[in-house]
Amino acid sequence: MTTEITTSTNATDNWRGRFADAMMGSLAPPLLMFERGEGCYVWDVDGRRYLDFLAGIAVNALGHAHPVLVEAVSRQVGTLAHVSNYFASPPQLELAERLRRITGAGDRGRVFFCNSGAESIEAAIKLARLNRGESGRRRRIISLVNSFHGRTMGSLSLTGKAALREDFEPLLPGIEHIETTIEALEKAMDDTVAAIFIEPIKGEAGVIDLPAGFLERARELATEHGALLILDEIQTGVGRSGTWFAFQQTDVVPDALCLAKGIAGGVPIGALVTFGAASDLFRPGQHGSTFGGNPLATAAGNAVLGEIERAGLIENAQSRGEQLREIVTGIDSPLIDEVRGQGVLVGIGLTRPVGHEVATAALELGLIINAPNDHSIRIAPPLIVGDAELAEFRTLFTKALEAVA
Ligand SMILES: *Cc1c(COP(=O)(O)O)cnc(C)c1O
Repeated sequence: MTTEITTSTNATDNWRGRFADAMMGSLAPPLLMFERGEGCYVWDVDGRRYLDFLAGIAVNALGHAHPVLVEAVSRQVGTLAHVSNYFASPPQLELAERLRRITGAGDRGRVFFCNSGAESIEAAIKLARLNRGESGRRRRIISLVNSFHGRTMGSLSLTGKAALREDFEPLLPGIEHIETTIEALEKAMDDTVAAIFIEPIKGEAGVIDLPAGFLERARELATEHGALLILDEIQTGVGRSGTWFAFQQTDVVPDALCLAKGIAGGVPIGALVTFGAASDLFRPGQHGSTFGGNPLATAAGNAVLGEIERAGLIENAQSRGEQLREIVTGIDSPLIDEVRGQGVLVGIGLTRPVGHEVATAALELGLIINAPNDHSIRIAPPLIVGDAELAEFRTLFTKALEAVA
């Protein structure tokens, strides 16, 4: 961070030392401290306003302090917040049925609720372990180089970035990371593979799309060898890609789908949705979570998913995503190399390794975006984004690029 933000003697400064003292050193020092939000905007503790085009990393689907979410959560916490999984609750059942419907899993779909993306991956890894096959030979799990699946030991084992894994080895055995090519896939797949995990767009890698035909070939090979095709739509799901789920833009149907981030608009929740025969793998007692699927989180999920449908936010994500892509493509900057992603998950490949500089310049101008790595910028506004915010984005982002170029 440069001048304005770090050297000020205002309220933003007072919390930094306290944060460093009190918070675990596992996190990089936060950039700012935010106090409140509304729609696509947040305000820091000095009262400065920021246009939020990251949405808590693809979480705040309805933006900040959306009245529908505020009302649903307030009502539910005043009615019944938590009962444990010894008992069911109406919002939980409603959300499970809703997820079966919007994923297309239908009557053969089953839903497991948890509290985060990593936990939905953990559930999926256990599902993969249950897919041993009659001879018990299926013990390998295939994942992709540069993928991101989370920070817990199981999800970290799947994550395809050695730098994140190395300090915590030994990790789970039996997991192999292959290059994202059809050839590598064909070479890796045989009857000893229990599951293959794929992100339809690699968000943390810089919003990288899959090669043409990759997902289709993965489906064919998984079916041929009795392996599960497990899609990690934790970042791409819940409307962000311009359809409910990114896989719905293809003919591919997965065996399981990992979800989290956007489902409840900021209330922690995760879900594993199974399709077809994969729905029969878990037996009672084999997996669980104290908080998972509690009435509070699932009421929030129903409110968010209901509002996405009512307000046509999938269509909005689709059309605003196209507008966003046109805006970025139309900016005449020597730093922009290519534009990637789908819907309102947009990646910008840079010609020089200045991602962090661009994100910092944007923040100083009042625009929140991020650089998943030095060669990429990620843009992920709330699904409610409209004309005014896009126009402001164009101005601020152009200035940020100019400041760095
Ligand atoms: C964020 C993310 C995760 C991990 O989710 P957490 O809620 O942080 O545990 C896993 N996979 C993908 C693709 C993600 O974007």
